[in-house]
Amino acid sequence: MGQLNTFPLSYRIEGKRIVIVGGGEEALNKTRLAIKTTASVVIISSKIEADFSALPVTVLARPFAASDLDGAALVFVADHGADGEAAKVAARARGVPLNVVDVPSECDFYTPSIVERAPLTVAISTEGDAPVLARLVRARIEALLPPGLGQVARLAGSLRSRVENLLQDGAAKRRFYEDLVTSPTVEAAASTGDGAKEAEAMLQEHAVRGGGAGMVWLIGAGPGAEDLLTLRAQRLLQEADVIVHDQLVPDAVVEMGRRDAERICVGKAKGHHSFSQAQINTLLVRLAGEGRKVARLKSGDPMVFGRAGEEIAALRKAGIGYAVVPGVSAALAAAADTATPVTLRKVSSGFVMATAHGADDAELAHWAALAGSGLTLALYMGKSIAAEVAGRLIDFGAGAKLPIGIVVNAGRVDKTLYAGTLGGLATGAIAFADGPAIIFVGEAVAAGDWAGAAEIAAQEFKVA
Ligand code: SAH
Repeated sequence: MGQLNTFPLSYRIEGKRIVIVGGGEEALNKTRLAIKTTASVVIISSKIEADFSALPVTVLARPFAASDLDGAALVFVADHGADGEAAKVAARARGVPLNVVDVPSECDFYTPSIVERAPLTVAISTEGDAPVLARLVRARIEALLPPGLGQVARLAGSLRSRVENLLQDGAAKRRFYEDLVTSPTVEAAASTGDGAKEAEAMLQEHAVRGGGAGMVWLIGAGPGAEDLLTLRAQRLLQEADVIVHDQLVPDAVVEMGRRDAERICVGKAKGHHSFSQAQINTLLVRLAGEGRKVARLKSGDPMVFGRAGEEIAALRKAGIGYAVVPGVSAALAAAADTATPVTLRKVSSGFVMATAHGADDAELAHWAALAGSGLTLALYMGKSIAAEVAGRLIDFGAGAKLPIGIVVNAGRVDKTLYAGTLGGLATGAIAFADGPAIIFVGEAVAAGDWAGAAEIAAQEFKVA
């Protein structure tokens, strides 16, 4: 273990002054930091150059005087002239902690990088050795902490005596606080100032049942790449007690959940018992009914061909709380992979997500007309019947020359592209790569970047 040359602490400045000596950019930067606190911030310089006018500070445009340090908790010196020197001497004489901007050897304290969700603060310091590293670490922590977390922390503080009265043992209190600070509902309410009611309801629930209410989050996992998950999805995966996922969600994404979370795969796969939709609905209701937090993880976006409608209906009927977290749907990942603008001025005025699987004649006739009028079709669940669907679209009047593009394993490193025409696809001569696929049909497809795509062309067969 290394040893620190500085001692991290939270220093009370409430009711005191933070004095900043200097009037330029450096002073302004320290001012931005200082005004995050309730201290009164005073800027002193005979040369005020930066614009402090919009900030809640007192600007004294005159030379520094030792008496400026009366009641000062901290001094920042961002002045390289006589004022700065005088301030250093005065600070040392009075024992006021001193920071001389960019001169570590003269500093009594450094200012760490801060992630602030007041009252929650995370301070990151490298004792000045690697500020770039501190900034990177800060960015990661920023992403992990929801914006309303500060208000949630204040709520927890304000509920202390109620919790003491209502919940007896330590474990019950811990469960309540865990529930409170991880609840997206409370967080959402807290950020609009309505948190107290939600928190009180949660406290009553804990007092009555000895635990929190269960909950189901229907979470979009995106197309399969770990970094195409949303931050919210990642956060909730960390909070769930159980993760119920489809076969299409790769292990690497499921693994982003809490280590000790139970994992249940309900998808169809060799060697797995596959669940019917009714069984999945029952499972979700049972798990949440036991008071557990359930992440129902679905590929892409849960509301797009995800049967979320049936699951939500079952949860509503059972009176179980739920929330939906959107994800990157496969068609949008495919559009990104191939830089295909699915809507394009003067070419495509709309975008249709449709299923090829189970489409009847009326639907196909309709889509053929839409594709003919310039809309871009994204067909899901169509790989194994691609040729047949293409043929029927042509039968219903779609042009055989309409551009098409197919992305197998969109959004993943092992993606494979195919490009050509509807007529070419209809000949059925292609052996596609393994994996799920999106089939785009429409004029806008030709505007995409399909470099490296295998060509789908009408095959010519030589008769021997
Ligand atoms: N909810 C999902 C769709 C689930 S239906 C979403 O929004 O993406 C399953 C179909 O989605 C597959 O048959 C395939 O057409 C498509 N799909 C899912 N993941 C895919 C991927 N990574 N690449 C291409 N298509 C994918």
